[in-house]
Amino acid sequence: MIWKKEHLSAEAKQAPSLISHLITNIEELHSHTNHKDAKRIGIVGGGPKGMYALERLLHTVQQEAYEEPIHVIWFNENPHFGSGNNYSVYQPDDLLINYCIGNIDGWLRDDINEQVREQLSLRDWIAKYQTTDSEVTPTDFASRGLVGFYLQDIFMQLQSSLPQQVTISLIVAAVQDVSYTNQFKISLANTDDTLLVDYLLLATGHCYENVPPFKITGDTAPFEYMASAYPVNRLDVLPKGQSVAVMGLGLTFIDICLQLTEGRGGVFNELGEYIPSGEEPVIYPFSRSNLPIQPRGPIYGDSRYAVRAYTKQVLQTLVDERSDRKIDFQQEVLPIINEEIQFAYYSTLLETSSEEKVKQYINGLLADEIFSIDQLLFPVMKSLGDRHQSTKAYLDESIKRAEEGELHHPYMAATAVWRELTPQIGELYNFGGFTAESHQYLDKQLWSACCRTSFGPPIANMKKISALAEAGIIQFTIPPQSQISYDTDKQNFEIGTEEEQYTVSFLIDGRIARSEIVRKNSPLYDRLLERGLIEIFENGTYQPGCIAIKQDGRTTAKIDNQEIPLFFYGTPTEGILFDNDSLSRVRNNLASPWADRILQLIDTHDTYAQQER
Ligand SMILES: Cc1cc2nc3c(=O)[nH]c(=O)nc-3n(C[C@H](O)[C@H](O)[C@H](O)COP(=O)(O)OP(=O)(O)OC[C@H]3O[C@@H](n4cnc5c(N)ncnc54)[C@H](O)[C@@H]3O)c2cc1C
Repeated sequence: MIWKKEHLSAEAKQAPSLISHLITNIEELHSHTNHKDAKRIGIVGGGPKGMYALERLLHTVQQEAYEEPIHVIWFNENPHFGSGNNYSVYQPDDLLINYCIGNIDGWLRDDINEQVREQLSLRDWIAKYQTTDSEVTPTDFASRGLVGFYLQDIFMQLQSSLPQQVTISLIVAAVQDVSYTNQFKISLANTDDTLLVDYLLLATGHCYENVPPFKITGDTAPFEYMASAYPVNRLDVLPKGQSVAVMGLGLTFIDICLQLTEGRGGVFNELGEYIPSGEEPVIYPFSRSNLPIQPRGPIYGDSRYAVRAYTKQVLQTLVDERSDRKIDFQQEVLPIINEEIQFAYYSTLLETSSEEKVKQYINGLLADEIFSIDQLLFPVMKSLGDRHQSTKAYLDESIKRAEEGELHHPYMAATAVWRELTPQIGELYNFGGFTAESHQYLDKQLWSACCRTSFGPPIANMKKISALAEAGIIQFTIPPQSQISYDTDKQNFEIGTEEEQYTVSFLIDGRIARSEIVRKNSPLYDRLLERGLIEIFENGTYQPGCIAIKQDGRTTAKIDNQEIPLFFYGTPTEGILFDNDSLSRVRNNLASPWADRILQLIDTHDTYAQQER
């Protein structure tokens, strides 16, 4: 079952409207006198991570019986507080989460916030508010819009159980600059007014821009290039019948295809075939490898491949050693992962859990016949002569594998290994635990292939991509490793290799932009760097492109040799932390140490704010 917004009662969908009534503006904020003595804590970013941080702060205030007045000022570019853009309730229902609902829980279970009456996991929340008779099972999927309602409902629960001494103001504005002298001065877009806060957390998520993958003349990229596909309704300007190239074959590519087809009135019939509306453009996807992302079934409970305890122990030994030395990912970790991948593959193929039988079988193979991490991450697509047909056949094969699942299909079992070992790899990776060279190798050579292999979309959506390819709406014709150029006179793109060139009218960048401070791909972080509020993280000779933080998420930068109470959580820390970009409350949870730290700081670091007011 795929749960959509239409399956929820009206009660479940009240939060956006309730939240809109809580939104205030700077003038109102300045005129309020009741906040004057409160410590001001700014949170920038109204996505899930900003909200998780807020929840931890409220919880810590209550747990510590903290009595001083606190005023939280929460900034977000738009009114989607709690959901952020990725789970905006206004997006179409065909955009799905990529993990089944049993894995999604907006509450931290190992340290429960007892002040909040009802703390439902996504599954229980759907069960409470659904309007159908269907059973809600943890292996179901849901639309991202539905998840947005869930997240915003969490915020409303927090709001209705606020501790007495805490007030929250929601400001809809983009924070464009921040400076610091004992307090943070926050400048917002489209106003000259500024706001002061004492402590600041940035949970700005995906605030980075893709650098155009072609040479541009002048200052701005051409209209025919879309640096981001989000929000997806921006794709509505693309004219029907025109050729639209999409760079990247991952999760964003799927969102783009669905918006340009189902989003324009096309339908998938009961047989799974696509019936066009006539409003569609023709989509030409391509990537470096041209390998489409591997879909997956629900990953939950007993349906998961279980990594051998032995492998976890060996990795744990390395985790134990990392406080004394850097670990070489390529030399020390990769062979362990490879061995587990081989075991996963062959134990599933032979339907045995016997180490001995698997070993014997592998020993009987020629070296180049043995399945390894290379075949997993960089498979060779079988050529059927025609690129479109070859890619479609590869895609259909990947759907079949996913339908069999990781307990039955050897390749799928192998894909599970990366996913299952990610938490331990993270423990080794975080805060520069790998040697510079091997850290770079993992980031630049392996990680995107791992995402393609192990963190793919639900099968249902990949079947739609296959149907669109069958209907000729998607054309897999552009070669891998293509170069792109823009023709300013003809206002179109040439994409291809020396041997093969294709002309297309539009290009959508379907890559998710990552933090790359040195390439100046976020104006806000650019200014923070100029003002000395952040430093670039360096692991020896390697710069992953992110900010440097301490264990509690605090910037390592200092002003006049004084620490700055500026903290980060979520996507901006990707590069110093590993696999951070998810809804998980437990993975790289910087919200808890942040909340503890802020209350300690308020108790001990009580200077400028009091004197100035
Ligand atoms: C299209 C897409 C689909 C995804 N699907 C899944 C999924 O199915 N499952 C999963 O686990 N993960 C998924 N992810 C990963 C996703 O990043 C996380 O699930 C989650 O959104 C991270 O939350 P966040 O709060 O860190 O960032 P975001 O959700 O990106 O929220 C950041 C917020 O900060 C705001 N903001 C940024 N800069 C400023 C500024 N200067 N001033 C004011 N506001 C600002 C933004 O407008 C946004 O509202 C997806 C990501 C994308 C891009």
